[in-house]
Amino acid sequence: MKFATRTIHAGQPSEPETGALVAPIFQTSTYEQEAPGQDKGFSYSRTNNPTRQRLETVLAELEGVAFAAAFSSGLAAENAVLQAFLRPGDEIIIPLDVYGGTYRILNKVYQAFGVVTKQIDTSDLKAVEAALSNKTRLVWIETPTNPRLLINDIAAISKLAHARGALVAVDNTFATPCFQQPFELGADIVVHSVTKYLAGHSDTVQGAALAKEAAVFEPIKFLQNATGAVPSPFDCWLTMRGLKTLELRMLRHQENATAIAKALDGHELVRRVYFPGLASHPGHDVARRQMTGFGGMVSFELEGTAQEVVAFASSRRYFTLAESLGGVKSLLCHPATMTHASIPAEARAQLGLSDTLLRLSPGCENAEDLVEDLLAGLAEVANARSSKKPVTVAAR
Ligand SMILES: *Cc1c(COP(=O)(O)O)cnc(C)c1O
Repeated sequence: MKFATRTIHAGQPSEPETGALVAPIFQTSTYEQEAPGQDKGFSYSRTNNPTRQRLETVLAELEGVAFAAAFSSGLAAENAVLQAFLRPGDEIIIPLDVYGGTYRILNKVYQAFGVVTKQIDTSDLKAVEAALSNKTRLVWIETPTNPRLLINDIAAISKLAHARGALVAVDNTFATPCFQQPFELGADIVVHSVTKYLAGHSDTVQGAALAKEAAVFEPIKFLQNATGAVPSPFDCWLTMRGLKTLELRMLRHQENATAIAKALDGHELVRRVYFPGLASHPGHDVARRQMTGFGGMVSFELEGTAQEVVAFASSRRYFTLAESLGGVKSLLCHPATMTHASIPAEARAQLGLSDTLLRLSPGCENAEDLVEDLLAGLAEVANARSSKKPVTVAAR
């Protein structure tokens, strides 16, 4: 079954009792037992729920494995993976521009339990090799990364990690299984912020953790029930609704991102464009090898002052200024004051996170409209400069 067919058919048969094409939301906390201990596979909805089980089946099929556990947020899924494998004294390797919440949970929560985090440039295989030790339990990869969309070589890192007995977990939120299949490249675990492209409509917060081997999945599944960060049946249903158009949406997101990257690349008010689909991107060759598409995100550095960046970011017609990404409606974010504000300015500079960097999550609108909106914003900056008036935030 090809990918698009799986998004619509996997784990989603018509409801057997009534024939309803779309299975109902099993909004129940508990289940009747015929005799004590005799149930139909469901005893309590934290432990299992038919709607959640359907979602888990689809997610597993999309990533090409047998095991998936749904969580109430991406970070809850991450926490289950970290808690399943990290013990005091263990080491974990993470990328330099790892998702901020991943950095925070390791440095503010797991550090207190004696877990050692090594943050390195995981796009440099020599650095990965040097950081691995016999205490390394997990190598955590995010690819493309956020917000510079750097590419990590999943196959090469998996080889290095496995040679030292470490597991490889891939945060596949940005690429989605539509464009990247980490398990085929050697990963042991995949995590998702389902909130983003998988659900795809900016209307729910959810997460998932998947594994290839039963032995790796078992402690994650145990923690799903034992620590209880499960999504509601309605949220699971929303995600299944969204997933049915995952391929359609990802192709449109990519088409829009490509058009935007091309329009901004070389513009006199743009210092630099980050998009893995551009031949000039440092990870372009690895992306071509390990992905079937370049994803839907684009970042760029505006050649301008802090005030100009704020004016540009606050007055776009179609790009709403907001955190998060991956929905049908375009979003724009200023990492230095929003998603990455908790990182001190000096550390941000070291990570290459300029204060004039803007991250775009193009939605599913028309590409020409989106490009026009961004070019109009750059023209506003240029006009204000030549008239020597300070740029102001225009009314929408
Ligand atoms: C948003 C995000 C997360 C966290 O997911 P939540 O659903 O917000 O908890 C993790 N990784 C990446 C790459 C993200 O973008």
